[in-house]
Amino acid sequence: MKKLVIASSNPGKLAEFQILLSPLGIEVVTQGQLGIKEAEEPHLTFIENALAKARHVSRQSGLPALADDSGICVDALGGMPGVISARYAGLPLSDARNNQTLLGAMRTHTNRKAHYYCVLLLTRSAGDPQPLIAEGEWHGEITLEPRGSGGFGYDPLFWLPELGKTSAELSRDEKQAISHRGRAMKVLLEKLRMR
Ligand code: IMP
Repeated sequence: MKKLVIASSNPGKLAEFQILLSPLGIEVVTQGQLGIKEAEEPHLTFIENALAKARHVSRQSGLPALADDSGICVDALGGMPGVISARYAGLPLSDARNNQTLLGAMRTHTNRKAHYYCVLLLTRSAGDPQPLIAEGEWHGEITLEPRGSGGFGYDPLFWLPELGKTSAELSRDEKQAISHRGRAMKVLLEKLRMR
C-alpha cells in the first residue's frame, strides 16, 4: 500500500494523518482533493458510519481509504449524544449550541461521567472483507460550565479529574498524547505495521 485516501475533506485531518503515516512510506490525499463527495452517515454506531465513509471512498477512488468517526458519550444520557455529537443541537452546526444543549440535558444529573470515542477504519478496497479497525476511548466528566479555550467541540465541558483541567485547557500535543483520537492512531499504526 503506497497511497491512501482520507475519507474526509478536512485539511486538519490530512495533516494529522500525514504525520502519522509518512514513516510507513504511505502517501495520503483527501477525498476532497480527488473530487469525491462526502458519504452519508445514517447509522447508529460509530463503526458503521466509519465503514460507510471508507467503503464509499474506496469504491469511488479504487484506492485504500481511511475513515474516522468520533463523538462524546455521556453515561447519564444513555450514551447520548454519541454518533450525533456534531449535530446534537441541530442546524446550523455549532459547538457553542451543542455545549449549551448538553449542559441543559445534564442539569438534574449528578452522575457526570462521560467518554470520548474514536474509531479509525481502513478499507483496502470497497469489498474488503476484513477492514482494519482501531479504537480509542478517553474518560472524563461533564463540567457544570464551560472552561478553557483550546481544542474544539465539547472540550470546554470535558473535565479530567486526574489533571484538574478540561480538555480545552490542554495544549495540542498534550491532548494528542492521551486523547481518544491519539490512542486510536497508536493502535492503527501498530496494526498497519503488523499487517
Ligand atoms: P466527526 O468524527 O468529525 O463526525 O465529529 C464528531 C463530533 O464529536 C465533533 O463534531 C465534536 O462535536 C465531537 N468530538 C469528537 N472528538 C472531539 C474532541 O476531541 N473534542 C471535542 N469534541 C469532539
